Order: sequence, then structure tokens, then C-alpha cells
Amino acid sequence: MINRKLLEIDKENSFNRSSKLIKEYRASHPDSDIISLGIGDVSFPVPGPVAEAMKKACGDLSFMDTFQGYGAYWGIESLRKAISVNDYRGLGISAEEIYVGDGTKSDCTSILELFDPDARILVSDPCYPVYRNGAMALGRDVSVRKCGPSFKLEVPKEHFDVIYICSPCNPVGNAYTGEELSSWIEYANRNGAYIVYDNVYKDFRESSDVPGSIYELEGSRTCCIEMRSYSKSASFSGTRCSYFVLPKEFGEEIHSLWRERTINRFNGASYVAQKGAEATYLPESQEIIRSHIEVYKGNAALLKECFSSAGFSVTGGTDAPYFWVNTPSGMDSWEAFGFFLNEMEIVIVPGSIFGSEGKRYMRISALGSREDCIRACGRIKKYCQQPTA
Ligand code: PLP
Repeated sequence: MINRKLLEIDKENSFNRSSKLIKEYRASHPDSDIISLGIGDVSFPVPGPVAEAMKKACGDLSFMDTFQGYGAYWGIESLRKAISVNDYRGLGISAEEIYVGDGTKSDCTSILELFDPDARILVSDPCYPVYRNGAMALGRDVSVRKCGPSFKLEVPKEHFDVIYICSPCNPVGNAYTGEELSSWIEYANRNGAYIVYDNVYKDFRESSDVPGSIYELEGSRTCCIEMRSYSKSASFSGTRCSYFVLPKEFGEEIHSLWRERTINRFNGASYVAQKGAEATYLPESQEIIRSHIEVYKGNAALLKECFSSAGFSVTGGTDAPYFWVNTPSGMDSWEAFGFFLNEMEIVIVPGSIFGSEGKRYMRISALGSREDCIRACGRIKKYCQQPTA
């Protein structure tokens, strides 16, 4: 007897389908030169000082007196202290409130184990599909609500227990302001609800009215679980390390339940990855990370300008490495995928992957190389200048 909820996961609108279509295109066009504006993966490598720290960590593992084994279920203390001091400076989040994991993809689903199986879960349409599909894999029911015209989830009238908010947002590329988040915090505290605040794109934030952390906002410590990852900023998409914060205001009972759950369900992130994550806070690593983010932000500016000049309407791309674009000539998003692939050998992500509200949209990623972004802009410009385009 298998989990029937797995059967309900939408396979028609998935990254798997787009990978398959790209593979088929490559097979039938052996000389193709595809440029991906679709990937959510980064194009810079792990910063040198971080890689050095991981090499040293490998060395630690090879000697009896520095070997690390089981035990650091929610993260080694030195990393949790580094997070507290660097990411939460002035915000009073201590190492004891931080739980290290092996990626926000796992964390954002695992956290549901803290809540009752009947908890009412709310996600937006569009949203990062893992919130919906991960919850379904755990056999949970999920309510999906369309975003408002600003492509943000509006505070509902009815009761929900767990709400996912991604800001800066994948896929739309916009971000919630402090004022908008405060309305959610007020809702959560009034309803005894919890907000899973996915802040993995925090380092891309630019707008001054978007908070760097949810804990800058009053009332957040009783209801918000903030998640962050090293994947995008420090290129840990293959290394795997993340963390989330359960503020002490949740109460000792919740912390002890979560620790007990974790001891039974997780043996911790890799020691090597955690030592690497700790080294991301070195000034020399921070300088490299900032320079990588500057390139991605420059890519976003270039691509946005290119799509806008070609007559598309563009949302996002200022506080996140993504932006959201309408499909050409009323195509649905899979038709647009085929159109960009066949006409320009450019890969976009069909908006439908993120929910039915994405049907007439495409997600464009700025995480590729500068060279590829410039080449893609050249192809789009050239296509649009054709008399029949
Ligand atoms: N959350 C969001 C909104 C994402 O876009 C991604 C990755 O693309 C993740 C989480 C996954 O992050 P990680 O690599 O830490 O698992």
C-alpha cells in the first residue's frame, strides 16, 4: 500500500518534464547551443576560503583526536554561534534557537513534523512547489490561495495553522515589505498560527522596506520560523547546509519536542559542509559572496531590460535573482517554453510549475553566467527584430 498523496503530485507541471523536453531537443539537434535562463542553480563556485575550510575539515576527520562522528543533530556549536553573531547581530537570536540542516528544501517540509497532521496549511499560487509537494509527500492536505494583483498572498479571513511565505520570492522575484509582513504576524498571533518564513534569498534583498530578517518585526518571535540556506549565496547547492530559527518565545516544550524529534529523524548535516558554512562568515569569504551576488543582480538588470524592451511585462528581479514575465501572444507557459527553446534555444521555466496562476507566465533566472545572459539578450533582441516576430 503506497502513499496515495504521492500520486496527487502534479507530474505534468514539473521540472522533470522540462528536463525531459530539453533532453529530447538536444537529441534531435546535436549541434544545438542552448542557453538556460531557467536554472535555479548558481554559476559561481564555492568561495576559495570556504573550500579551504572544508579541506581542513576533511583533515580533521582523518585523525583520532579531531574525528567527528554522531551527535551534532541540530548542528555543531561553532556554526550555530557564528550564525547567531553574524546573521542575527543586534536581533538577539542565540545559538540555542538555531537548528542546522542539510538544505531548506528538506527543512521546509520537515518542519511540518512539528505540527498536527490535521493542521491547516496555506500556500500561495504561485509558490515554490516544494511547499505543496513536500507537504503532500507527508500525507498532509494543503490549501492553495491565489496571490493578489501584487503577486503576494493576502491575509485571509479564515483560519490556517501554518502559512508558508517566501520573501524574497521564488518564483515571482518580488518581496514582502515590513508592513505587509506585520499584517501576517498580527494574523498569526491572533489565530495561534505559525509562519514558515523562507528567507533563502535574503542576500539579494535591495529594497529598504523589505526586512533582512523577520525578527526585525514586532511580534514575530512568537509565531515565525525563519529559514535560510547557504545554497545561493555561497554556492552550496551541491554541498548542502541550511538552518532555521525556532525562537525561544515558542517555549521550552516545543524546543524539547523538536530536539527529541530530530534525534530520532536526522543525524545532522555533514561536518565538512558545516565547517564550510562557518567559513562563509570570514571577511574574505563575505567579500567574494558579495561580488558574486553583484554579478547575479547585474544579470537580472540586463535581462529585465531586454524582456521589457521586447514588450514583455516584468515583475520582480530587484530583491531576488528571479523575475516573472508574461508569456508571448497569449501562449500557455508550456507553449512559451517550446517557443523559446525552438526559436531561440533559450530555456525558461514555465510558470505552471509554480501553480495554475503561473499558466500565462515564465520565470526567468539571473543565476547563470554573465556571458550567457548577454548571449541570451542578443538572441531575444535579434528574434524580435525579425519582420515576422
Ligand atoms: N526555498 C526556495 C524558495 C528555493 O528557491 C530553494 C531552491 O531553489 C530552496 C528553498 C532550496 O534550498 P536548498 O538548496 O537549501 O535546499
